[in-house]
Amino acid sequence: MNDYDLAIVGGGLVGASLAVALHGSGLRVALIEAAAPPVADAAWDERCIGLNEATRRIFDSLGVWGAMRGDAEAIAATHVSEQGRFGVARFHASEAGLDALGYNTPLRSIHGSLLQRVRDSGAAILLCPARVDEVQVDGEHVHLHGTALDGGLRARLLVAADGARSPIRQSFGIATEAHDYAQTAIVSSVRTQREHAGIAHERFTPDGPIAVLPRPGRVCTVVWTVPTDVAERLLALSEAAFLQALQAAFGHRLGQFSALGRRGAYPLTRVLSTRLVAERTVFVGNAAQTLHPVVAQGFNLGLRDVATLADLLPDYSDPGCAALLHAYVDRRRDDRRQAADFTDGLVRLFSNRVPGLGELRHFGLSALNLSGPLKRRMLQRSLGFGAHTPAAARDRA
Ligand SMILES: Cc1cc2nc3c(=O)[nH]c(=O)nc-3n(C[C@H](O)[C@H](O)[C@H](O)COP(=O)(O)OP(=O)(O)OC[C@H]3O[C@@H](n4cnc5c(N)ncnc54)[C@H](O)[C@@H]3O)c2cc1C
Repeated sequence: MNDYDLAIVGGGLVGASLAVALHGSGLRVALIEAAAPPVADAAWDERCIGLNEATRRIFDSLGVWGAMRGDAEAIAATHVSEQGRFGVARFHASEAGLDALGYNTPLRSIHGSLLQRVRDSGAAILLCPARVDEVQVDGEHVHLHGTALDGGLRARLLVAADGARSPIRQSFGIATEAHDYAQTAIVSSVRTQREHAGIAHERFTPDGPIAVLPRPGRVCTVVWTVPTDVAERLLALSEAAFLQALQAAFGHRLGQFSALGRRGAYPLTRVLSTRLVAERTVFVGNAAQTLHPVVAQGFNLGLRDVATLADLLPDYSDPGCAALLHAYVDRRRDDRRQAADFTDGLVRLFSNRVPGLGELRHFGLSALNLSGPLKRRMLQRSLGFGAHTPAAARDRA
């Protein structure tokens, strides 16, 4: 049986980030990922992640920002509007004293940069493809068994970064607060007639929000959230008919859309684990909380889980001790709750068709433009500076 200080199960964006963050910690780390690395698609035809400023700083401190920066498009401003109403809330990077509010970055590029860093630095032993099927905890260790794990391994701390369904969370019998939004996000790319000028558009429609986010060149990522039955109809449309429907819902701010990329569909649920830790175990990223993508909080929040854990580990000689687990829960509780409530509140406010709420939304968007303190609070949350900011995201230009 192989011995480690820390075993990370799940080598997605969050698990891979943790492995990189632990480079130089002196801990023996295993990173276990079930899926073989994805095959890269055409550069403009794939899912992108809106990385916020806190995330950029953390990635910079981990030495991986430079590797993905060339593929990332800076978001200079965000325009939030509602179909059929005039209220528009505008957020400019300059209001926050920054060059960009965030960076729209291909998931492939982020993931590739992280895994490359793990390999180059030797931050962790990467076991991939390998799957954990069984977890046992005794007083001192967590024992892991499964496929391609070479007789199993043991570690003093298990970090479950195994995604929304988290088999590890299930094996501990930990309950979740789950809500099915009955919505599906259709993700694709379009070419635009006009320059996007680095502006991210978030447009709320009666069916759900449409995000149109800048990519290098005259290309934008589209995340179109609609009720699942509507998504099925949209996905069955021809490319031309889909583009027409999208154009009708979004309008002509960017001129005519053309050349649709491949369409991907993501059913949306909110899953909050009722516990962030179990004996010698921490849950991070989607395994701890899976959020609606409307305001791009999910991965950004998961990276703050990772950076917080990396902040705490040097203070404890035993990485799986109860004191560390308590400290972790203490630091993550408020940030996580606020991000989940912020996201869910927006989804519910803008998908509610109760008479009168439309006026309230209109008033809300206009008020956001006028009110300094309210706008600043929204900006801080969107930039990733919530209840607790990990050390790597503080005071780093
Ligand atoms: C349409 C859409 C748009 C989004 N946009 C944004 C955005 O703009 N900004 C943002 O911050 N977030 C965004 N998100 C959220 C973001 O994608 C997720 O929060 C993030 O990818 C979660 O990463 P993770 O590593 O926690 O989980 P996952 O990506 O689910 O990774 C879990 C990994 O664990 C592995 N695994 C599972 N079980 C085992 C096992 N037993 N053994 C070994 N390995 C195992 C899986 O193979 C998988 O690779 C978006 C989400 C969606 C759906």
